[in-house]
Amino acid sequence: MNPRSHSLREALARRPLLGDGATGTQLQQLGLAPGACGEAWNVAQPGSVRLVHRSYFAAGSDLLTTNTFGGSSYVLAGHGVGARVRELNVAGARLAREIAGDRAWVLGDIGPFGGMLEPLGDGVPQEVALAFQAQAAALLEGGADAILVETMSDSVEAALAVRSARAAGAEFIFATYSFQPAAAGLRTMMGSTVAEAMAAVVMAGADVVGANCGTKLSLEAYMRLTAELVAAAEGRPVMVQPNAGSPRLEDGRIVYDIHPAQFAAAVPGLLAAGARVIGGCCGSTPAHLAAMSVHFAR
Ligand SMILES: [Zn+2]
Repeated sequence: MNPRSHSLREALARRPLLGDGATGTQLQQLGLAPGACGEAWNVAQPGSVRLVHRSYFAAGSDLLTTNTFGGSSYVLAGHGVGARVRELNVAGARLAREIAGDRAWVLGDIGPFGGMLEPLGDGVPQEVALAFQAQAAALLEGGADAILVETMSDSVEAALAVRSARAAGAEFIFATYSFQPAAAGLRTMMGSTVAEAMAAVVMAGADVVGANCGTKLSLEAYMRLTAELVAAAEGRPVMVQPNAGSPRLEDGRIVYDIHPAQFAAAVPGLLAAGARVIGGCCGSTPAHLAAMSVHFAR
């Protein structure tokens, strides 16, 4: 086994790990235009991407997530750079690995392919699987210690991404979904329950499962969600990365309401509910992670 994938597995068995926070919003503060291709900055503006990783590393993050959320050929093609999958993902993994050194681990980030699978959409499962596999292979080539499949809504797509990462040679795989409240409880946008969503990625072989992001989910709701995830995870460690509140427009800028101290105050409850990896999603900053890190003894 890759020694760093192995040490990550061991560390997680020993203690809860601190993830990191949002990347996209941090890059936007450094000048990335909203809607622009953030992954291109792994090559065009590597100093800015390094700065984001370094801020989370300094905040105490055990896990650095690569700037490759939209790094599949499908999403890159939407920016006219569909042929640069290997280049942008290798570069993204290298940047995070450079900062992580021996004290942190690198999660090679894979987000949804951006469409819907057949028969609801025109995504051909075999083609989407190959796209995820190519992305995962490039992330591993660049030095990712594990693969993180995140913000998933479709359990079929999530399972496909986990299997593709394994086929690419990933030895440690995280898989998390985005949930939202529905009349009958929490559901993914595609209508999967927590139990259905977890069962799909557990069956596909994910090593860590859980939730990130989400719509209209308070931190209290995330604590209840965590307990549901743990109950459905079949013994897999559970990762949760909530948003720092819901986005709201203020003077034409998107702002998030939950401040670092408030966000950090939720950590004991999330740990008590059984979370083993806790980080932040949209709106979370290095200040949020620094405040959270006091709850993570090393
Ligand atoms: Zn998010």
